[in-house]
Formats: sequence, C-alpha cells, structure tokens
Amino acid sequence: MRQYVTEILSVGTELLLGHVTNTDARDVSELLSRIGINVKYHTVVGDNPQRLRDCVAIARQRADILITTGGLGPTCDDLTKQILAECFGLRLVENEAEKQGLYEYIRGGRRYTPNNFTQALLPEGCTVFHNNWGTAPGCAFEAAGKIVLMLPGPPNECVPMFRAYGIPYLQSLSDELIVSHSVRIFGMGESAVDDLFAEEMNAMQNPTMAPYAKECDCLLQITAKAHTEAEAEEMMAPVIRHVKEKLGDVVYGMDVESIEEVVLPLLKERGLHFAAAESCTGGDVARRITDIPGASAVFLGGCVTYTNEVKARLLGIDPELIERYGAVSEPVARQMAERVRILTGAEIGLGLTGLAGPDGDGVNEVGTVFVAMAVEGQTWVRELHLGAFRTRSFIRRMAGNHAYDMMRRWLTGLQVNR
Ligand code: ATP
Ligand code: MG
Repeated sequence: MRQYVTEILSVGTELLLGHVTNTDARDVSELLSRIGINVKYHTVVGDNPQRLRDCVAIARQRADILITTGGLGPTCDDLTKQILAECFGLRLVENEAEKQGLYEYIRGGRRYTPNNFTQALLPEGCTVFHNNWGTAPGCAFEAAGKIVLMLPGPPNECVPMFRAYGIPYLQSLSDELIVSHSVRIFGMGESAVDDLFAEEMNAMQNPTMAPYAKECDCLLQITAKAHTEAEAEEMMAPVIRHVKEKLGDVVYGMDVESIEEVVLPLLKERGLHFAAAESCTGGDVARRITDIPGASAVFLGGCVTYTNEVKARLLGIDPELIERYGAVSEPVARQMAERVRILTGAEIGLGLTGLAGPDGDGVNEVGTVFVAMAVEGQTWVRELHLGAFRTRSFIRRMAGNHAYDMMRRWLTGLQVNR
C-alpha cells in the first residue's frame, strides 16, 4: 500500500477547554496503526467556522487522508459537515434513507426539533456511514485527490463506527492488506528488547518489527503487507520463530492483552486451581482472573488481608512472624501463600504483601513487594523493588504480573525464579 499521510482533525471547543480528553483521536489512531496506516498529525479545533476552514486548508496541504471527529450533530455548533463540504466544493444533499431513519427514530417516541433533519444532509456522492450507535451519520468521500472521513464525536459512536465502516473503507482503497502479530514480553524492558533487535529492525522492510512499552510489560509488533492473509502469515512465520527463540522464556504469549489470559488455559489444561491472599494488591489479582470468562474452572477464591490483625485472624499468619519481620517481608508473603493454599484446598497459593505508597512504613522503601507462590512441598518468593516514585496502580499491577508470571513459569516447566 502507498504510504498515506493521515491527519485526524477533532472538532469541539470542549476539547480545547480541557473538559473532555481527545480519546477519539487516540482510539482511531490505534485502529489505524493496526492496518499499517501511520497517523502523522492530530489537530484539535474549536466549534468555529473560520478556524475549522483554516485547519482543513492546512490538512489538505500535508495529508492524503483527513479524518474528522465531532460536530456532526443537529445543533448550531455542529458545523463539520457544512464546512468540509464547502472546502471541497461539494453540495449537501438530503439522504433519503437517513431521513427515513430519522422519521422512524422520532416515531419511536423520541423528542425532536426541525434541526434534527439537518443530520440527513450529507455531501453529494459520499459513502454514508449509518450510525447504529446514535443518530448523526458519518460519511466518507474522495475529492481533490484527498480522502475524507467524518465521524461523530461521542466515543461510543465514533469508535464502533470507525471500526465497522472506516477501517474497511480505507482497506478497500488498496489491493494489499496488513496483518500484524504482537509477541508479549514480561521480564525484559522495551529498551533491552530494542537493543537486542535494533540492527535487524533497521534492515527490515516487509515484514517490519517494532517494540512498544505497555504500562507493566512490553511487546514486539510484527507487521506484514501482502495480497492475501495467508501470504502475510507466511512472511511473518520465520520472523516470529526467530524472535521467540532469541527472547526465550520472557515471551509469555502472542496476540493477548495480559498474562492472566495465558495462565488461565495453562491451569485449565492441567486441571489445577489457585487461590490468592492479597495485601497491597487489594484484590486486584482476584479481579484480573475473574474478568475473564471461565475463571471459575481455575480460581477458587482468596482474601484481602490488609491489616496485621486480619492477616493473623483470617489466614492464621503467626503474629510473632509479623512482629519480628514486619508485614512486608519474605516470611509473611511465604506464609500467606501457604496458608491460603491450605485453607482453600487449591494446588497453588499466592501471597502478595508490599508497600504501594506514597507513604512508607519506616523500614521498607515504597515499591517493595514480596510475591510468593506455594505448591505442595515448595514455596518461592520474589522480592521486588519497583521504585519509590511509581504510582499505586503501577505497583499493584506489577505485583500481580509477577504473581501470574510465577504461575506461568511453573506451569510451563521453567524455573520459577531466575
Ligand atoms: P452529537 O450528535 O452527540 O452532537 P457530534 O458528532 O455533534 O454528536 P459533538 O457534539 O462534537 O459530537 O460531541 C458530543 C460529545 O462527544 C462531546 O460533548 C464530548 O463529550 C464527546 N466528544 C466529542 N469529541 C470527542 C473526542 N475527540 N474525544 C472524546 N470525546 C469526544
Ligand atoms: Mg454535537
């Protein structure tokens, strides 16, 4: 595919005032990157006709594809369609199907005012994107050598519409398609991954490879352009094999969003179960597995034992142990994992205790976390120092990742702690 320069132009004064975050531009960009279209510019402009005209003029000079978000509704500050049509010398014509749709919508008991019907006015000759998620339709047209797409502002309309119509529309412009896979990595940072593959990545053209950092892990995205999906897969297969070999056991999965998604089927295949005793993660380990359908086959339950007293009373942690080593310590994490395993009857017990900050406990630095995993006859503990300036959410998520990573490693026959 030709490399199109793409610009997203988000229209709305509320975005400039900081009342609303421009998530539309983010989400549309993310979907575009998956089909290999790189967005080069994000622009935000208020609901002002002249400034909108100016932005369209600038975009026409530097971009091939212009995608607008917002300002498609019926109110007088919604002027995207009018201005875009004007800029590209197109008339607005009434679209019969959309007008009928609006009548039906109104007949369904909705309140309406005559300006509702301005929504059925669309640039002549455009491809209409019917809005199943709201009322204002979007559209696409080609004019003056440019490709223009217009999407409504509300994210729950903009994103599904772009997915349903925008992506296929843009893909139909080319006889090539783009397929990508992501190799997910835990236990090696983005820069180390980059360093490992820098030379190869620079030399690659198709397929290409790029590392991305996520909040608590990273991924290597491999993308190929070809005439068919099978051809693209064939081109990527040796690259993926090579990458996995070179990275080794820090690779936890392909095309997944999280490590727990990988652990669930591993447990299920082996008919094993786990339980978690959580302190600093406040139940996050349990929430993460139960977010996935089918968790009941592998997760028995757990408890959040935040104070020392509850750790002792609920789990039976030896108060002397807490007294001697402190709640954030290796022996306490170990006993939490062992006790929750016995109490629930699970084959695997997890124990997490640490300091999520921002206040310390006078002994350990913020970000100190002990993560333990117990199975019959053996317990492992990881001592983590995640950094005193990290957010609570980072520390929690990272601690959980380690717990899931310990299970992943044990279940796949790897050494639990390297
Ligand atoms: P409507 O028919 O709902 O009026 P519209 O296309 O006219 O749709 P706008 O009026 O521009 O959309 O925006 C409606 C609401 O959608 C805004 O108040 C805001 O909450 C949200 N919104 C608009 N643009 C964005 C954006 N770029 N990112 C996230 N949210 C947005
Ligand atoms: Mg509006």
